[in-house]
Amino acid sequence: MLLFRLAGCTCICGSCRVTVLGEPLKTTLCHCQDCRRWTGSVGQLAIWHRQDDVLCSGKLVEFVTGARVRKSCARCRSHILTSLPKAGLIELCVASKISLQAHFFYVTPLIDIKDDVPKFVDFPASLGGSGVQAESWEQCTDNLQVFYGSCPCGAIAVSISAEPTTTIFCHCRECRSWTGSCGHLAVVFEASLVQIAGELISVGHGGRRNCAKCSACIASAHSPEGPEAPNLLEVCGGILNAPPRVQAHWKYSERILSIKDGCAKFKDFPKDMGGSGDVLGQEVAPYAVTLFRKDEDLGLEFSFVGRKCRVLKVRRHSLIHAARLALEKGIM
Ligand SMILES: [Zn+2]
Ligand SMILES: [Zn+2]
Ligand SMILES: [Zn+2]
Ligand SMILES: [Zn+2]
Repeated sequence: MLLFRLAGCTCICGSCRVTVLGEPLKTTLCHCQDCRRWTGSVGQLAIWHRQDDVLCSGKLVEFVTGARVRKSCARCRSHILTSLPKAGLIELCVASKISLQAHFFYVTPLIDIKDDVPKFVDFPASLGGSGVQAESWEQCTDNLQVFYGSCPCGAIAVSISAEPTTTIFCHCRECRSWTGSCGHLAVVFEASLVQIAGELISVGHGGRRNCAKCSACIASAHSPEGPEAPNLLEVCGGILNAPPRVQAHWKYSERILSIKDGCAKFKDFPKDMGGSGDVLGQEVAPYAVTLFRKDEDLGLEFSFVGRKCRVLKVRRHSLIHAARLALEKGIM
């Protein structure tokens, strides 16, 4: 008997809808360079289906890369699927829940996911890979001040010579739909220090910007649901040469993939960003956050260890002034 179900997720704008017949063949997360650069995140989520089992409504734009065809919503550029026409397969990347079975190309993961799912250095032998499982992997580098990157088609070039303000991973539904990954890896910079060459398409939701040609996710304005900080730009970590380590997870209550990386998992956002500040689970590793106000950069950095808070760095303002503001905001 055929099972008929809606894949539970549409694109951000709602004009594309995916319907699938039957159960998925498998569910994987591919951390390869190409998937990273298209999603702008840790890699592409792939819920594998036979080509004939997937029905898409709505207008899609496509980008052909080798044997794969990457498809996105023509309107909001949410990443919908990757098709492998020769193999007759579809890798669906919109989902409301998943049961992950393998990580592919887990060699230099952008987040150390630390789950119990098999991690292959390429992919399983049954699919033509080496079948070797990754036993250790390189962590991403910290403290870089020069970043560069490009999208898979090469039309966009990004360069930044600055230290990022913070790096977060947002698990919200919108970020998942946009990237086609399990969330948005946001490396936050002062917007004026980010140089982007090439034609971008601004898709209207949270200032999200994609490559006009291949639809890769490039950058977004600071998260629409949370902080108001027009002077900041979130550059998608997946397109960068060496994105810094994630410092906190946002909207963890909406996650489809649990991550045990020791970083704070905010139910929504930190308090100073307009969220509840509620942290889910026990993981509360040191977390640095920079406070910003709309018109003036307070440049105040804190380190949170559990419920304790320590001021790390203050720029442009005296410590007393900054601490008073933090008290007013209920952070200290
Ligand atoms: Zn759309
Ligand atoms: Zn891949
Ligand atoms: Zn491109
Ligand atoms: Zn989000």
